[in-house]
Amino acid sequence: MIKFLELKDINSLCRDELVAACTRVVDSGWYIGGTELQIFEREFAAYCGTRHCIGVANGLDALVLVIRAWKELGYMSEGDEIIVPSNTYIASVLAISENGLVPVLVEPDPDTRNLCPMAVESAITKKTKAILPVHLYGRMADMPKIMAVAKRHGLLVLEDSAQAHGAHIDGKKAGSWGDASGFSFYPGKNLGALGDAGAVTTNDDKLAVTIRALGNYGSYEKYKNTYRGVNSRLDEVQAACLSVKLKYLDAQTAYRREIAQLYSATITNPLISLPVASEFDASSNSSHVWHVYTVLCDQRDELQKHLAEHGIQTLIHYPIPPHQQQAYSELAGHSYPVAERIHQRILSLPIGPTLSMAEAQVIVSACNSFGRN
Ligand SMILES: *Cc1c(COP(=O)(O)O)cnc(C)c1O
Repeated sequence: MIKFLELKDINSLCRDELVAACTRVVDSGWYIGGTELQIFEREFAAYCGTRHCIGVANGLDALVLVIRAWKELGYMSEGDEIIVPSNTYIASVLAISENGLVPVLVEPDPDTRNLCPMAVESAITKKTKAILPVHLYGRMADMPKIMAVAKRHGLLVLEDSAQAHGAHIDGKKAGSWGDASGFSFYPGKNLGALGDAGAVTTNDDKLAVTIRALGNYGSYEKYKNTYRGVNSRLDEVQAACLSVKLKYLDAQTAYRREIAQLYSATITNPLISLPVASEFDASSNSSHVWHVYTVLCDQRDELQKHLAEHGIQTLIHYPIPPHQQQAYSELAGHSYPVAERIHQRILSLPIGPTLSMAEAQVIVSACNSFGRN
C-alpha cells in the first residue's frame, strides 16, 4: 500500500535530533515561552524574510489573531468584509467569521486555482477591509497583482500560507508579501510539528506586539489585561522540533518538486488534467512547494477507486466547498461554479519527502492505465 503521506517515516528522517530536542526541553524544566520558542521565531522570521514571527497554537489561530488585532487597532470592525477564495480550506473562512466579519467568497482562476486578482477587484465594496489570498496546495497566489489591487483600494492583505512554507515569487517568500501571514505547522504540512502549532509573520511592529498580547490573555504585562484575549501559544517542545525540521525543509521541497516533475512529465492519460504551470512556474524565479499534487478528472471517484485497487491511497482536497457547508448555510443560495467544478473533479496524489521515485513510477503507471481496461 502506498500511503498518501507517511508521517512516521518523515519524522524518522531526523528522529535522533527530534528526540534530542524533546529531551533538552524535558530536562530544561521550562515548557512554555522560553528560549526554544525565541530561537524558532527568529529562525522562521529569517527564513520568510520578515521582521517578526509570533508563535501561536495552530494555523487557524494565526489567521484569527491577525484579524482580531486589526480590529483592536481600529482598522476594521464587525460587519466589514474580507475577500477570500471560494475554493479554500474552511479555516481561511472561519478566521473571518470568528471575528464577526463577513467572508466574501471570490472565485479562483480555474487553472491555478488561486484567487483571481480581477475577480477580487470587482468584489470590492465600501465595506471591504482586507484580502485573504491562500497559497493553495503550495502554489503562490498572484501576489504582485493582489498587492497592487490592495494598494489601489487601501486594503490590508493577510496571506494564508499554511500550505506554502518556502514558496516564493522572485525570491520573495510566502508570508512576506502581505501585511501579515498565517502559517500552520500541523503535522501533515510541509513544515510539520509533532502536534498543533502555528505562527504569524509580519513586518508591522505594532501588529506583532498586539498579536503577542492577544495570544497571551490580552496581556502586555503579567496580570494586566488590555484586551479580552485568548491563550494561543507555541510550546517549547514543538518549537524545538520545528527548529530541527526547518533545516531540512528546502531539501524536502526540492524532492517534492522532483516528484511533481515526474508526474507532470509522465502522466499522459487524456482523462486526467495535470496542474498547469502558472506564469510564475514558467520562470525559474518562483516556486511551487507542492504541499499537494492535485489532478482533475471528470470520473474522479472512479479514478480514486482505480488507484486504490492498485494499492495507492489518494485524498480529496476538498470534497465540499465552504459555501456548501452546513456551517455556512447562509451561503447555500449562492453559486460558485468554478469552485464547485474543482471540488467535484479534484484528487490529490501521494507526494512527500519519503515517497520513493519507484513508488511515484507505480502511481504514474496506475494513472496512465485508468480507463483502458
Ligand atoms: C491547515 C490549514 C489551515 C489551518 O491550520 P491548522 O494548524 O490546522 O489550524 C489554514 N488554512 C489552510 C489553507 C490550511 O491548509
